[in-house]
Amino acid sequence: MSMQELVRFTVPAEELTLALAVIERFSRDRLANGVLRHYYTFLPEGREEMATDVRLVARQAQLALVALATTQHRYLYLCSAGEVVLLGDFDRGIDDEEVLASFGWGSDAEFRSRFPSFADLEELADDGPGNDAGPASCVACGVAPGELHVFGCPVELCPWCEGQLSRCNCRFDQLDTDQIDSDEQLDRFADVLAEKGRVPFSVDQNPAYPSAGTDEPPAASDADGRPEGDSQD
Ligand SMILES: [Zn+2]
Ligand SMILES: [Zn+2]
Repeated sequence: MSMQELVRFTVPAEELTLALAVIERFSRDRLANGVLRHYYTFLPEGREEMATDVRLVARQAQLALVALATTQHRYLYLCSAGEVVLLGDFDRGIDDEEVLASFGWGSDAEFRSRFPSFADLEELADDGPGNDAGPASCVACGVAPGELHVFGCPVELCPWCEGQLSRCNCRFDQLDTDQIDSDEQLDRFADVLAEKGRVPFSVDQNPAYPSAGTDEPPAASDADGRPEGDSQD
C-alpha cells in the first residue's frame, strides 16, 4: 500500500492535505520515510493523529534513533538496516539497556540529559517549505509566527474554546448543525471564524515545542496584532 493510501485511511478528511504535505516534505529522506511508513502502518495505541515532524536523535554505525511527532504525541523509533522498531514515547526515554549501550549511553538519564527536548533535535527533511525557518514555523502548515494558519491546519487554536480547531465541536455549534459535509458549510464556517478573529500562529502552539517542565523560555514569540475581520482566501 502506498504511503498516501495509509495516510488516507488514518487521518480525518480535514487533516488530509496537511498530513500528505508532511509526507511529501520528508519524501527524500530514507530514514524519515521508513519511520513515517511504520507509524502509519501500526499507529501506536490506535491513535489516529497525523504525523507532523520527524527528527534524528542519534546515529551509530548501522543504527539510528529517530523521533516522530504527531499533533499530540512524540515517539521514539530504532532503525537498522531496513527495519524499524517502535521503542515507545520519546518523553519517557529508553529502558532497553541494549539500545542504550549500542549508542554508548550508560543509562536512560544520560540519554535524557543529552536530548532534553524534541525541538533541539536535528531535522531530517533536506528541503521543503518551512525548513529554513526551522522550528520557528508551524510544524504542520509552515506559516511563520504572527501569520494565520492554512485553513484546516490541526495546530490552529479555536478562538471560542482555545482547543484544537480541527477537533473541537465549536464548528458544529457555530453552524448550528450536527454534521458538516458540504463545501458550502465549510465556507460559511470560514466566514464565521474570520469574523470572530482567528488565532495566528505562535511558536508555543507547536506540539513539538518544549512546554512546562523545561526551563527554556519561549523565544520572543509575542504574536501581537491579531488580524481583525481579515478573511484569507
Ligand atoms: Zn499551522
Ligand atoms: Zn472550539
